Amino acid sequence: MYIDTLIQQLCSTRRLDQTQWAALLRDAGAQDAERLAQAARAEAIAQFGKKIYIRGLIEFTNYCRNDCYYCGIRRSNVKAQRYRLAPEDILACCAEGYALGFRTFVLQGGEDAGFSDDLLCRTVETIKKRWSDCAVTLSVGERDRCVYQSFFEAGADRYLLRHETADEAHYRRLHPAALSLTRRKECLWALKEIGFQVGAGFMVGSPGQTAETLAEDLLFLQQLQPHMVGIGPFLPHKDTPFAQESSGSTEQTLLLLSCVRLMLPQVLLPATTALGTAAVDGRERGILAGANVVMPNLSPLSVRKKYMLYDNKICTSDESAQCRSCLQRRLASIGYEWAVDRGDSPLLGTLHASAGIVTEQNG
Ligand code: SAH
Repeated sequence: MYIDTLIQQLCSTRRLDQTQWAALLRDAGAQDAERLAQAARAEAIAQFGKKIYIRGLIEFTNYCRNDCYYCGIRRSNVKAQRYRLAPEDILACCAEGYALGFRTFVLQGGEDAGFSDDLLCRTVETIKKRWSDCAVTLSVGERDRCVYQSFFEAGADRYLLRHETADEAHYRRLHPAALSLTRRKECLWALKEIGFQVGAGFMVGSPGQTAETLAEDLLFLQQLQPHMVGIGPFLPHKDTPFAQESSGSTEQTLLLLSCVRLMLPQVLLPATTALGTAAVDGRERGILAGANVVMPNLSPLSVRKKYMLYDNKICTSDESAQCRSCLQRRLASIGYEWAVDRGDSPLLGTLHASAGIVTEQNG
């Protein structure tokens, strides 16, 4: 009964407080989750129709100076075979992706000093020049504000930087002392101020996570108002300190996707690869729980198995074209279609539209 009231409040006011979020996340049963999923799906359809935005993920380097305990490409994992793509390889992935109908390219990697900021800027410039109808998203971790600014000036449109957890003690449990939640959050605010479409997010079921820390995650998202939110289950990697920890649950991940959709109706919300790894139909179920984005892999086949953030990652031996047709089939099976579109945040549209009105009035 109490849970019913919380769901009603969430749907009508789009917010809950810390105690209410924690209660909802702790006590929602399967039927409550289904109610939330239905409401979230209806919201996603009202905002975006039955079109799913597609992002081509190019994992261009797995070198990383950080040592996050959960991550398979952490510095201390000596078993990881390191690679770094050359700009030509990245451009070849974009060319292939463009022909397949991708209009957003996401360049993701570890924090790799061997791929200089300057080279990354020049690569972004080339992509934007060659495929001017495409958006570029970067996901390369924490950088100084001036570096983020130079990425933006080079033409990058969006930036993904999951906050990972908004709880100090939980952040410490997941990261070594060199990393800090304060700095992570500062990066996100800086990215937003610079003008990127910004994505935050977290893993579900990471070691030490509780209903209370998840409630903090949701309150942080409420405060940040990001354009995108990345949520996937934590999945252990055999060569990390968390090898023996258990995986996050598919159901809890779906529940959180629905909560985020209802809290931030216009947010771009991917059904992640990790969700597709946790359950064969995970991404389809993610869409039915309120997600509206999918990010298939466009990396060259030769490196796919080397960008192993967690064990058993899907699509590591499929050609990009195979991934495309597989995904298109999956979307069709639930009545959705692949949108050949940059898929910008609707929040940005509002900004541009109001800027337009101002210009007209001035003119
Ligand atoms: N270096 C970049 C990109 C990190 S990889 C950055 O710091 O933002 C992208 C995301 O994968 C991470 O933000 C993390 O949330 C997720 N990830 C890493 N290891 C994982 C694991 N074992 N299980 C599930 N997701 C994981």
